[in-house]
Amino acid sequence: MGVRLPGDSRQEEIDLEKSGKVCSLQRYRWNVLQDKKEPMDIAGLFRVEVRLRENTQAQMRLTAKLQEVLTDPLQKTVILELQEQIAKLSSEYWDLEMRWWEIKCGFYVGPVSRGIDFWRAQPKWYMHPVLIEDCAGRGGCCARDCGCCVHRERRWGRKLAAGHCTTECGCCEKARGFELSDEQKTRLRKLIQPENGTVHYEKIRFASLLGLEVGNFENPLDRINAPKIYWMWAWILAVLAWL
Ligand SMILES: [Zn+2]
Ligand SMILES: [Zn+2]
Ligand SMILES: [Zn+2]
Repeated sequence: MGVRLPGDSRQEEIDLEKSGKVCSLQRYRWNVLQDKKEPMDIAGLFRVEVRLRENTQAQMRLTAKLQEVLTDPLQKTVILELQEQIAKLSSEYWDLEMRWWEIKCGFYVGPVSRGIDFWRAQPKWYMHPVLIEDCAGRGGCCARDCGCCVHRERRWGRKLAAGHCTTECGCCEKARGFELSDEQKTRLRKLIQPENGTVHYEKIRFASLLGLEVGNFENPLDRINAPKIYWMWAWILAVLAWL
């Protein structure tokens, strides 16, 4: 190996990469950060990610409402209001995307950012069991079989908005049967975005940045990819339904 730059992989990390032991590799990468205490605004990144999801889910909800009234000439004012709100949200999304990238660019290049990039390159990183349980626990779509969370990214093509339900999810609102009050929204938001330093925050941070869970040593990739047997069953059921 040539002359090292700060942040380059050390032999230990390279060996773990080659070994295919993803859980050990990701754990190693985190521990290196713990030793060095490199500055990274992880909490800031999470905050922006929640807002990106809120924004997109609000747009999805308002677009669905717009579709319902679009052909009704008596609803002209409502239509204009909805269109205005959607346009405002689109512009806000652009700002949030820029903010996300600003924060991400500030991440020290090294083992942890390699770990984060590796995990986030998996399209279904957010379907980690810890994050599914978290969504289901607060009454999100993962508690039902609508499949909103798993298909969210594909439906809107917004990579940064992929993830679980927020206060703005229209499907959750329908399932609940009522609109959340401002107080209820604040309460739910605190669960979606737990305070930095709490046990809940650390749990979410490990799962969503590195695919890790304390006490679990399975390969994180196996935990987000449905086993082949699942797809086989889905295929059999689809054929039976067709017959
Ligand atoms: Zn849903
Ligand atoms: Zn939902
Ligand atoms: Zn979910």
